[in-house]
Amino acid sequence: MADFQNASPRIRASAVIPATLSFEGVGKSFGDIHAIEDVTFTAEAGEVIGLLGPSGCGKSTLLRLASGIEEPTRGRILLDGREISGPNAFVPPERRGVGLVFQDYALFPHLDVMGNAAFGLSNLDSRTALAAADNALRRVGLGHRLRAMPGDLSGGEQQRVALARAIVPRPRVLLMDEPFSNLDKRMRDTVREETVALLRETGATALIVTHDPEEAMRIADRIVLMRTGRVVQVGDARAIYHQPVDLEAARFFCDLNEVQGIVRNGGLTTPVGTFPANGLAEGCLGIAAIRPQSIRLRAPGFCLPGRVLERRFLGELELFDLAVQGLDAPLRMRARESVPFQPGADVGIEIDPREVLVFATG
Ligand code: ATP
Repeated sequence: MADFQNASPRIRASAVIPATLSFEGVGKSFGDIHAIEDVTFTAEAGEVIGLLGPSGCGKSTLLRLASGIEEPTRGRILLDGREISGPNAFVPPERRGVGLVFQDYALFPHLDVMGNAAFGLSNLDSRTALAAADNALRRVGLGHRLRAMPGDLSGGEQQRVALARAIVPRPRVLLMDEPFSNLDKRMRDTVREETVALLRETGATALIVTHDPEEAMRIADRIVLMRTGRVVQVGDARAIYHQPVDLEAARFFCDLNEVQGIVRNGGLTTPVGTFPANGLAEGCLGIAAIRPQSIRLRAPGFCLPGRVLERRFLGELELFDLAVQGLDAPLRMRARESVPFQPGADVGIEIDPREVLVFATG
């Protein structure tokens, strides 16, 4: 498989004037199912947005609303401030200047690579269309497969054809639905990096759906975190990771040790220590969410007493299960450096309070 890098560095994707894409109180129901509820946010011109959330939370529906494949039940969608879906207007998909890449790529099986890439250019004369498609295919490293049929391509190559087809008409907004999920991990990393580079090159505003938090953090300028049809948080990766809006948002980004406690004298008191109460009222029940990487082991006699139950070597890191008196479940620790303690050893457990998030119970 040829990589994007094999494309000639002189070949660049054509830049576009990106557009802002705004959702204002958007809702979409299918009968009794409220797939999208009251979604409001703006993708700024040229921004790459990661639409992130668990399966069934409404990510694809939101993308379909933006593309015009679906119409909202409530609210409106605006492109550069102009209503494209809503009570006052509906611009059909082909007139939105929006490109789509589907999860299964949706290539036309009876058209070759070139035919697929040029498909969206019916309004250009064929020589111009073919030149634009040729340029896009070379840009994604497929200049040598122009006459291949989709069935003869690898998954990564098919994804590149779909990407080339989407950028050829020079869309101001690109919508991508789980574009990397059908690729194996090694290919996914390469194709993902190159796709983001290509997006930056075209300058198009992009909405990329993913259910993988790490992927969202890698590709997006900002992440829109969704749950049951609603947007629960919008922010860059750092903000969402460090200041998640609630425990569920925190869980989505990191495995957590969750320890119950009660607020006493301004701190959440738990069996593993007292942590800043994060504004919770005195007497409130709360949960300390402790990241596995925030735990360090010391010699016994110092800090919180515990015992190593298990350790598992995973290459770059090692996982430890630690028993602590007063806790039903072991504490999970993730260590990057070598640790001298074996299962059965008594240890002192140190927790970095900066890596502990506190939330109200329930
Ligand atoms: P996944 O990651 O699994 O693709 P998603 O976050 O993209 O999920 P959607 O596909 O947008 O979620 O679906 C949101 C909800 O709307 C789900 O409950 C789904 O069953 C429902 N839904 C979506 N499209 C339709 C439809 N055409 N008719 C009925 N219900 C639908």
